[in-house]
Amino acid sequence: MTNRNRRRPIRTLKRRPRRRLKKKFKVIFLLGGILIFFLVGMKYNKKAQVVNSDIKDNVEDNIEDITEDNNLNQQKEEEKELPWNLVLANKWNKLPNDFSVKTVTLSNGHSIDERAYNDLQDMMDSARGEGLSPVICSSYRSMEYQIDLYDNQIKDYINKGYSESEAKEETEKWIAIPGTSEHQTGLALDIVSLDYQNLDEKQEDTPEQKWLLENSYKYGFILRYPKDKTDITGISYEPWHYRYVGKEAAKEIFDKKISLEEYLENLNKK
Ligand SMILES: [Zn+2]
Repeated sequence: MTNRNRRRPIRTLKRRPRRRLKKKFKVIFLLGGILIFFLVGMKYNKKAQVVNSDIKDNVEDNIEDITEDNNLNQQKEEEKELPWNLVLANKWNKLPNDFSVKTVTLSNGHSIDERAYNDLQDMMDSARGEGLSPVICSSYRSMEYQIDLYDNQIKDYINKGYSESEAKEETEKWIAIPGTSEHQTGLALDIVSLDYQNLDEKQEDTPEQKWLLENSYKYGFILRYPKDKTDITGISYEPWHYRYVGKEAAKEIFDKKISLEEYLENLNKK
């Protein structure tokens, strides 16, 4: 008994702090657990926020990319839409079937885009003022006229004994496929000398051509098919075919000795 009695208080005495310690530990563990739970939770939350903002950034980037693409497409379309004076017609650039132009008829029966009329008149007046006699021998051709010209030439060759494909090939050496002739733009003119009206290389030796070659750019006209640009224009040298492009473009084309095709290519790069 005494032993027991002696032991008990000791045991209880010893037990009490242990219990307290256990309680303390429990509380510490609990608090620690809660703290860790919160810390992990916060970290996870932060990660989630980072991931979310990444997604947001990606979405925003994608939207930016799409708008950039749209802008590029818009730019490309704008590049294609050239002002009236820079319209391009060659074997690689067919005029649209519904292409139309308001022309004015000159006293000689030829017609030209009415917007180029004043500059043409100035040029002809200046040439005449120098004692020269330039003669317009070809000007605006409608789509119908170009088709007639083309078809009749093919028929002519077939009548001469050519096969259909031979007739077509031969015709296309001289007459542009409808839609690809610059004369259809209303901005092209064939101008010759009154004294020499053949459409051949000797045309360049006439005083009229010599003057036009040096001065036509001042009035917005260019020699459209120069000798050294045939691979770019797709047309043989024609020292009589002039094209209205406006004074600004004409000066640059003249100064840089380039073709209309090259001028338009440079314009796209700007
Ligand atoms: Zn011509």
